Amino acid sequence: ATPTAIMVGSGLGAKRGILFKNATALETSARIDTVVMDKTGTLTKGEPEVTEVVVEGIDRARLLALAAAVERESEHPLAHAVARYADDEGAPALRATGFRNVAGHGAVADVDGQRVAIGNRRLMDAEGITLGSLADRRDQVAAGGRTAVLVAVDDRAVGVVGIADAVRETSSAAVTALHDAGVAVVMLTGDNEATAQRIADELGIDTVIAEVLPEDKSTKVTELQRAGRRVAMVGDGVNDAPALAAADIGIAIGTGTDVAIETADVVLMRSDPLDVPTALTIGRGTLRKMR
Ligand code: ADP
Ligand code: MG
Repeated sequence: ATPTAIMVGSGLGAKRGILFKNATALETSARIDTVVMDKTGTLTKGEPEVTEVVVEGIDRARLLALAAAVERESEHPLAHAVARYADDEGAPALRATGFRNVAGHGAVADVDGQRVAIGNRRLMDAEGITLGSLADRRDQVAAGGRTAVLVAVDDRAVGVVGIADAVRETSSAAVTALHDAGVAVVMLTGDNEATAQRIADELGIDTVIAEVLPEDKSTKVTELQRAGRRVAMVGDGVNDAPALAAADIGIAIGTGTDVAIETADVVLMRSDPLDVPTALTIGRGTLRKMR
């Protein structure tokens, strides 16, 4: 591209809080045919809140106290939601020992003489815990688009905590704008299939890649590239950084983690998903002026 075209494109972006880190980012934006979007914190606000607590064979306050004790040791946004909810409900404060984080699965610790595991179905499988009659309750929570967090005490599944994270106001419009521009949209998430599918349906996203382990997000991007796609990855988390790097362009949400912002080629300062189609449009305009 001519220096003038690059300057015009960068200027147009900057006005909207879309920062192209270099000329290549601007040029590559023009050629993108597939946008892969992280769910939590990208399509959603990343402010998870507990919406329901299902208990079976355990006192509700006890379940919340045990779960919160483990989650207070974790950095995960879902963990913060659980701990905050337990505090608000006045659940007794207990201390966890032997805390172990299992990336993409959940966490395990000892609390008040009991062993507590909290996380997804995969964590329960790994711990050899069967869901029994809680399986149906879990599926109901997930079908509603909420993240279903399972709680097991002494190797018995005793609770499901439903956690909702509202979609951003403009996520649906962003998907529509990308489709109108002939760009395919893919949701990529560590969350479970049913929850992800429900939110994708709400947003008009037709391809969902769910239950992806943090270390596998970049592999999914590479697979799309091998299939001939030119991919922009949009994300906010530490987990997303390798995928942002692997993509033809990485686009970071401005409120995202430092590592995502540093790794990305483009930063959306307003954290507005609608700035994704706008960035691609600016790229296309820049390319057109070059010819
Ligand atoms: P995401 O891509 O949604 O940010 P992660 O890879 O961080 O996902 O986590 C994937 C899933 O693992 C979560 O949706 C949740 O079910 C489970 N999980 C991970 N950490 C925790 C935790 N501390 N407490 C409860 N569930 C957890
Ligand atoms: Mg995220």
